[in-house]
Amino acid sequence: MQAEVIIRQTAIGPYRVNTYLLACAQTRKAVLIDPGGEAERLIKMVRDEGVEPVYILNTHGHADHVLANQQLQKVFPVPVCMHEADDIFFAAAEVREKSEKELGLPAPAPADIRLTDGQVLTVGRLQIKVIHTPGHTPGSVCFLAAGNLFTGDTLFVGDVGRTDLTGGSLDTLIHSLREKVIVLPEETIIRPGHDYGETPTSTVGREIKENLYITDFILAG
Ligand SMILES: [Zn+2]
Ligand SMILES: [Zn+2]
Repeated sequence: MQAEVIIRQTAIGPYRVNTYLLACAQTRKAVLIDPGGEAERLIKMVRDEGVEPVYILNTHGHADHVLANQQLQKVFPVPVCMHEADDIFFAAAEVREKSEKELGLPAPAPADIRLTDGQVLTVGRLQIKVIHTPGHTPGSVCFLAAGNLFTGDTLFVGDVGRTDLTGGSLDTLIHSLREKVIVLPEETIIRPGHDYGETPTSTVGREIKENLYITDFILAG
């Protein structure tokens, strides 16, 4: 039986990143996924929901997805988690400089916990699985929890994330979608890192039918 979950989505910060509050309904333990800024608003969201954060999760290291990490940690002293490949990548001086120029925002601080592919985080009765899906960045991940896939900038509704930023690769992103995403149950709910599509969410089944990066690059190939 799947854990009952609470999910709140809100568009945050200069790039309108979808920040998610994901909580176990029974225990009220929670995570914040990609806190992209406006820390005060996110703190209020957590308090209004009456939940207790235990991790801050980043789908990848781009500044717009991590902007409120440190401000939130002052109020909720919990570890920031990022895939090891992005934590290493964004620690390099030349990458930081390039990324800051590309995004016009400061590069991320080091993570407290380096995530690995297949790792499972326990949050109350909720299990959150880390799925490494490189391509948008070397350490991009999707988080799978109770039939919901938080895809960051790997997969949007009807689109995929940019691969022209430093460390990006379209071939690698397509490979990740083929091997790690479209193999999931069709009813899996896609919860993207930006609201760029016709609807705020989608499903794996719908993306397999409608997303040109899947229909043309994977299924037709
Ligand atoms: Zn990004
Ligand atoms: Zn983004």
